[in-house]
Amino acid sequence: MKLLLVVAAALVDADGRVLIAQRPEGKQLAGLWEFPGGKLNEGERPEIALIRELKEELGIDVAETCLAPLTFASHAYPEFHLLMPLYICRRWHGQVASRENQALKWVRPHNLRDYPMPPADAPLIPALIDLLG
Ligand code: C5P
Repeated sequence: MKLLLVVAAALVDADGRVLIAQRPEGKQLAGLWEFPGGKLNEGERPEIALIRELKEELGIDVAETCLAPLTFASHAYPEFHLLMPLYICRRWHGQVASRENQALKWVRPHNLRDYPMPPADAPLIPALIDLLG
């Protein structure tokens, strides 16, 4: 089966809330809430891909030293097997803004379960609750 590499970030604000983004209409899994990120380009390191995606999707600049690996998702979708490392990021430059028409929400880790997520993302929630309370 095809392997798909995606990288995602849990941006954490000063109140310990985590950013989630809603997949827009027209995309696969539209309406579900995910941790921002995206696919790795050929030969791209995960951290570099994540920095690129966060700039494209949210308009923020993140230094590589501000990305801390937390855990990763592994999920077999019908069409591909997804591997998705999740990084914690608490510092960035610029204002978080929706650059790709996606709704954004800052959510306390305990409330993340109230937002329907893709099956790869939902199992990441316990690691965030452990870390952030
Ligand atoms: O975002 P994009 O559509 O490029 O991602 C490719 C696929 O990876 C999605 O269709 C979805 O199945 C999966 N994905 C996911 N969780 C994310 C990002 C992507 O399950 N946070």
